[in-house]
Amino acid sequence: MSVTHETKLESMFWKIVEWRRHLHTYPELSFHEVETPAFIAQKLEELGLEVKKGVGGRGVVAYLRGENAGPTIALRADFDALPIEEENNIDFKSKNPGVMHACGHDGHAAALLGVATVLAETKETLNGTIVFLFQHAEEKPPGGAREMIADGCLEGVDYVFGAHVASDIPLGQVSVTSGSIMAAVDAFTIQIQGKGGHGARPHNTIDSIVAGSQLVSNLQQIVSRRVNPVDTAVVTVGVFQAGTAFNVIADTATIEGTVRTFNKQTRTDIEEEIRSIVRGVEQSTHATCSVDYLNGYPPLVNYEHETDVLREVAEKTLGHDAVISMPASLGGEDFAFYLEERPGNFFHVGGRTDDENTQYPHHHPRFNFDEQALLNIGKLFLAIVDKYL
Ligand code: MN
Repeated sequence: MSVTHETKLESMFWKIVEWRRHLHTYPELSFHEVETPAFIAQKLEELGLEVKKGVGGRGVVAYLRGENAGPTIALRADFDALPIEEENNIDFKSKNPGVMHACGHDGHAAALLGVATVLAETKETLNGTIVFLFQHAEEKPPGGAREMIADGCLEGVDYVFGAHVASDIPLGQVSVTSGSIMAAVDAFTIQIQGKGGHGARPHNTIDSIVAGSQLVSNLQQIVSRRVNPVDTAVVTVGVFQAGTAFNVIADTATIEGTVRTFNKQTRTDIEEEIRSIVRGVEQSTHATCSVDYLNGYPPLVNYEHETDVLREVAEKTLGHDAVISMPASLGGEDFAFYLEERPGNFFHVGGRTDDENTQYPHHHPRFNFDEQALLNIGKLFLAIVDKYL
């Protein structure tokens, strides 16, 4: 990255922190963001950027067109918060009861605003266009990314990059990994309709508990017998509700569960296997079942080439030893939708120090991170821009 960009960003550190703390103080839930996008849009307009508001509902998209022709790079920050009561003792603690920035999205937005400020000042040296994607509702499927894409936020974009602060990675390090790094997260509900009756007269009934038990048992065969053992998948039944009394055969039963996968084909195969097992149980038990299968976010798959490019610039920016490669996680992230449309990479930037306050997991009421991480996110975004533009 050019020294000017790095120096300019460093000189903005306290401004970025101020923005982050403001957003942290006034967090807003997914699909209910009002003040947050307004704040972001105002800052972007002050920079003289072309700003679109209400993109896909609540997103904000800003365009910075360089003086010279070149590729178009999209940089994304999410800005929604979670339904958690904050337990941190900090002077910028959430003032919105029951709502907290417990995943660091406040920091993502502030860091990207810093990047936009630096680049707006050096526009004449840009060969190409930067698209700043400030996204609502990352935390709640179906998520904001899909809506923003449907509203055209990727039009003309060649590459897309996104960053996430991480409390399980030490400050100063960045995890850069190609391929599938986060899982697809799906949910299913199966309603079993049997025929209730007296516990002593089972032949006159259809026992929904027996049908449900077969179902739960047979679902275990999907991962063990149907999925290639070198692939990774989880099928978990988290809810099995049925029955009212010891001598009554249950009329209905409800089963709910989640499916986690990395491979797109495995994902669709498992859904089909679930439906097939349900048909088999219907045949063998005479119960009637309905399946409600919800596709959450797709697996997040980083592009090989863009990962190589990012690794190279990250080593130059933060140092050779700073670049690590974390194992895949079963968490989900709707940045995956952008990567279904365009090549790019989603990377994790360390925010953890020896300070216990930076070590709580994401989505914890005491989640926090070392704010120097925001500079590292910004430096990496700027390095990507320097590399491509
Ligand atoms: Mn997050």
